Amino acid sequence: MTVGVAVLGSTGSIGQSTLRVLSRHSDKFHVAALTAYSNAELLARQALQTSAGFVGIIEARERPNVQWHAGADCLTIASTLPEVSIVVNAVVGVAGMDATLGALRAGKRVALANKESLVVAGRLALDAARTGGGEIVPVDSEHSAILQCLAGRRASDIRRLVLTASGGPFRDWGSDRLQDATLADALRHPTWRMGRKISVDSATLANKALEVIEAHYLFGVPYDRIEVVVHPQSIVHSMVEFVDGSVLAQVGVPSMELPILYALTHPLRVEDLGIDRFDAVTSSPLTFEAVRGEDFPAFALGVEAGRRGGVAPAVFNAANECAVGLFLDGRIRFGDISRAIDAALSRAASGAGRTREELLAADAAARALVKEYCLC
Ligand code: NAD
Ligand code: MG
Repeated sequence: MTVGVAVLGSTGSIGQSTLRVLSRHSDKFHVAALTAYSNAELLARQALQTSAGFVGIIEARERPNVQWHAGADCLTIASTLPEVSIVVNAVVGVAGMDATLGALRAGKRVALANKESLVVAGRLALDAARTGGGEIVPVDSEHSAILQCLAGRRASDIRRLVLTASGGPFRDWGSDRLQDATLADALRHPTWRMGRKISVDSATLANKALEVIEAHYLFGVPYDRIEVVVHPQSIVHSMVEFVDGSVLAQVGVPSMELPILYALTHPLRVEDLGIDRFDAVTSSPLTFEAVRGEDFPAFALGVEAGRRGGVAPAVFNAANECAVGLFLDGRIRFGDISRAIDAALSRAASGAGRTREELLAADAAARALVKEYCLC
């Protein structure tokens, strides 16, 4: 019997990588469900190749295949199907939140690429996992690295987590030049090929702030013991320093297929010859630098929102999603993204964010603040 996997966001960068990984391990896994926002053509090809039993599309321009499920609830259905044991959440943005919560409540393993889920609703996700018996295994390469370094050790053994950051395409750009960086510049990531939203997040370093918050919830480590270091080669995926001073790092070629496979098989490892092998000599030299926080204000704003807790991470995430959307549409400049986030965080109401409804209200208010700031 093979393990049933739902791939949410199957037409995206992580979704397609996941299907490649699954196709190499069809002796262990089968694709039970696929969902996408649009792109019915690609989804149809995937449905044919995988023979998925459930196919869901959110926005069907043309009449979808009669066997497909159309509409926003397809994520919830796919993530709670009885034949699904692992939900790979590769949706982008807060749109993936309910699927994470629903899958955890239904006792599934969530292989989580959709970091926005945990940033917005970290406390609710941990509660859902506890009550429903589900578990979160990260797909994000940094968090996969930390999970692999921890290898079952207790949180009390950790002195600090060190997340690595590639530094993005603007690592060595001066702050004046940064203000007017174009979309093409922002999408030209030096080491990873990713979806548009996370590529822009990597350019502003908002992505690394999202990842600090994600690490806080995943590993239960306080913010003052989570650090970030720039490592342009993206070979050291992150490090853990233990209380005795020993530091473990997880190292490998920059390929998301590795953390995706590990999220499926954790804590076991299976042989995979489809991923490039690591070569220490050709990967040399490995270098590390401090984050230029003053030139990338979205990073500090996000970490500060994480520390504040309550609805603040939801406000940060929504403001970022909205501002990045405006930048992708050519309506604001690159430098406006962090200014809009700052404006939303300083004007948004505070709140404990204990319910999904309160978090989504904070999300909506933050989007309205960003639009008012940017477009009025
Ligand atoms: P992408 O834009 O390439 O793909 C997003 C997928 O989500 C697509 O299948 C799309 O159809 C679907 N989608 C978009 N909006 C949706 C909505 N409103 N409702 C339901 N589905 C929707 O993005 P990606 O680069 O694959 O990233 C996906 C997630 O993984 C993000 O949270 C990102 O931060 C995270 N992640 C990505 C990478 C990477 O290398 N690409 C690495 C680490 C983490
Ligand atoms: Mg990452």
